[in-house]
Amino acid sequence: MTVRVICDFDGTISERDMIVSIMRHFAPEASEPIIQAVRASERSVKDGVEAMFALIPSNQYGAVAAYAQAATAVRRGFPQFIHTCEQLGWKVAIVSGGFDFFVEPVIHNLSTASVDIYCNRIDASGSHLRVRWSKPCDEACDGGCGLCKPRVIREIAQPGDRVIAIGDGVTDVKAAKMADFVFARSDLLRLARELGLPHLPFETFDDITAAILDKGSELYAHLS
Ligand SMILES: [Zn+2]
Repeated sequence: MTVRVICDFDGTISERDMIVSIMRHFAPEASEPIIQAVRASERSVKDGVEAMFALIPSNQYGAVAAYAQAATAVRRGFPQFIHTCEQLGWKVAIVSGGFDFFVEPVIHNLSTASVDIYCNRIDASGSHLRVRWSKPCDEACDGGCGLCKPRVIREIAQPGDRVIAIGDGVTDVKAAKMADFVFARSDLLRLARELGLPHLPFETFDDITAAILDKGSELYAHLS
């Protein structure tokens, strides 16, 4: 039995949602109604993110990447959390609806542990930026994810594995429903309460590490 930790990036590892930050910097007026529609689940994540990047001319891609890397603030305790998981033999996968140009540099700068990273790419060969989804929804998903976290879990979790999901937003709900236990903040915390999912709230990764190191924690009742 392997414990697999599925960890979101935007708003979870990074304190701010980088896609929202990028859009408010590079296409503020046009992106705002799309951001609100996605948050209200009136528009799918896939559709909303594609529409927002299509607002940005491809010749700005270098500036977008530089801005995102400079603007990323990492939530406290992340390196120690990765280290703790590695010592326990737990497998961590960063599963992000975000993009290689900001997810990969941050993770590689923070940790030498082997973590798998699932994220998307940008195609800047046309007039405006286009999103290349690395893991589109599979047939078992009801669709609209962008990067399909349920698909990634189906691909990597073997029968008998235990899955812990960590996240903050509406894009983490489907993964949270598939998990044995959830660490949640922000919108995902509200949804985990509403749905009755086994969960603990977190504000920093120190909170999560403390729960992992406490064998009496509620977490372990759901991993056995
Ligand atoms: Zn999906």
